[in-house]
Amino acid sequence: MQKKHLEKSIFKKIIDGDLPSEKVFENDQLIAIKDIAPVAPVHLLIIPKKCIESIQVMQPEDLPLLQEVVSVAQTLAKEHGVANGYRLLTNSGTDAGQTVFHLHFHLIGGKILGPMG
Ligand code: 5GP
Repeated sequence: MQKKHLEKSIFKKIIDGDLPSEKVFENDQLIAIKDIAPVAPVHLLIIPKKCIESIQVMQPEDLPLLQEVVSVAQTLAKEHGVANGYRLLTNSGTDAGQTVFHLHFHLIGGKILGPMG
């Protein structure tokens, strides 16, 4: 296993309060924060508190978290004025562009989004 996977991730540090963030939601299972480098007017990150590297290694017992992610995404999309159109996505693995190895979902909207590439 690579060293980066053993270190406390940036998102774990944010969850633990070791690093600052612009938090827009928190409950016992998830936090949601503003992305530090937004690609659209609305770019939020919905982050399960449990340390799971990516969607690819989620275990069956963790799958209810996905339900919670969708529910929180729907609420945040309304609150941030993008309920008419947004993307909810997760990058799994370096080939997909994952850079932080702690499961998270991008909620992106607020402009006309181009085709997926
Ligand atoms: P990934 O590339 O892993 O799918 O997404 C990681 C996201 O985390 C990127 O969009 C990046 O801008 C964001 N990010 C990286 N470091 C920080 C940070 O310290 N704070 C916040 N709020 N976002 C971060």
